[in-house]
Amino acid sequence: MLETNWKKELLTEQQKVAKDCICPTCGGNASNQTLDCNYCGNENLAFKKDIERITDVLGNLSEEQLKDPFVMISLLKLGEYSSLVSDLSMEDINKEYLSWSETIIDKLISAKELTVVDQEALINLFGNGDFYQNEKASVMQNLVIANTARQAVHYSPELVYGALQQCFCQLIKLNVKEATMEKKKLEEGTAGEAQSYIARIDEKNFDDFMQHGGTFILNTLGHEARHIYQNYKRYHSIVEDRNDLIMFYESIVRSKKPEIYDDNYLNMLVEIDARVYGAIIEQQFLKTMFGVSVESIKREYEADYALLTNHDTMRVIDDKKVHLEEEVLSSLNEDPELYDKWSQFHYEFVKDNGCIRFKTTSELIDDCLYNSDSAKNNLYYALIDNSRKRDMAMESRQQMSSSVTM
Ligand SMILES: [Zn+2]
Ligand SMILES: [Zn+2]
Repeated sequence: MLETNWKKELLTEQQKVAKDCICPTCGGNASNQTLDCNYCGNENLAFKKDIERITDVLGNLSEEQLKDPFVMISLLKLGEYSSLVSDLSMEDINKEYLSWSETIIDKLISAKELTVVDQEALINLFGNGDFYQNEKASVMQNLVIANTARQAVHYSPELVYGALQQCFCQLIKLNVKEATMEKKKLEEGTAGEAQSYIARIDEKNFDDFMQHGGTFILNTLGHEARHIYQNYKRYHSIVEDRNDLIMFYESIVRSKKPEIYDDNYLNMLVEIDARVYGAIIEQQFLKTMFGVSVESIKREYEADYALLTNHDTMRVIDDKKVHLEEEVLSSLNEDPELYDKWSQFHYEFVKDNGCIRFKTTSELIDDCLYNSDSAKNNLYYALIDNSRKRDMAMESRQQMSSSVTM
């Protein structure tokens, strides 16, 4: 990736520092005075070693090499720890960074070529998924993506990939700090996929972006970031609204009957939710960077948004149309341990004499009254509404059967 060895070494070491500065015993940060843990005082050997190695790498550089913006970015990323390896103050480093980033932004805006040296410094800035929040960095990242999108300049694939990775981090890292992104050859026709907290972007999707531009890749980033957020909410039993519950039910049914995914692809709420988010991210980028709004994306988004708000739980399962909740109820009675494992079930279902059943409308109303989290009111209203519909359907079934027996 990087042409010179010392840059590779410096990058590796500075990434190690970001990890190792956290005390393995208590999780506290290492002190930039004593190098030991600020909180429990334990000696942090790994961190000391990293600092020694960085000092070595920098010590072997010539005057000229030390002026390379790559070094300045490394120091910037080391933050308070830069004082351990350099005489420059944080103020000096920030000043240098600001003036360098201004010239880069000018070049990016006027679509001028960047030198290899500047591209490599930018690769360091965007990082390899080590999320670095900085206003100028976001501006440069968006300009690199925009210039590639309109094929105004051809940057190195590493730089463009770095910009996309940084963009992905902005979409998800604040919610899910374990999230990572990688480039991989995926099944034909798959633009991206998400598994647990890893987003995979198809190599062809990326190559296509490099060669032909466009903004579809931002849609993919948004789409896969959203799947990661869905996974995060599921793993942590976070339910903010009825859609979170429906998506959770989909995952439960899918784990028992994987074919539900393909049989209902266009109606799966996890996909609709991810498509809506992907479209929003692409559209926002187009608006901010090019001042345009693309009708086709908007139309697609509107159609999906309607599906997102209608709370339809009808799915095709085993060639029959069934409500997801009913399918979940039978799964729960087949496998009652599930009920205790996931608290998401406790909103709509209750264990009653060893048997799991739907909560009654009156039980749901009680839950709503005793609920202290006002953000969840809409969730309860939706559940009560749904339960009433179930009551009505039950009544009309009973009336029908009594009129038949008469
Ligand atoms: Zn400690
Ligand atoms: Zn998807």
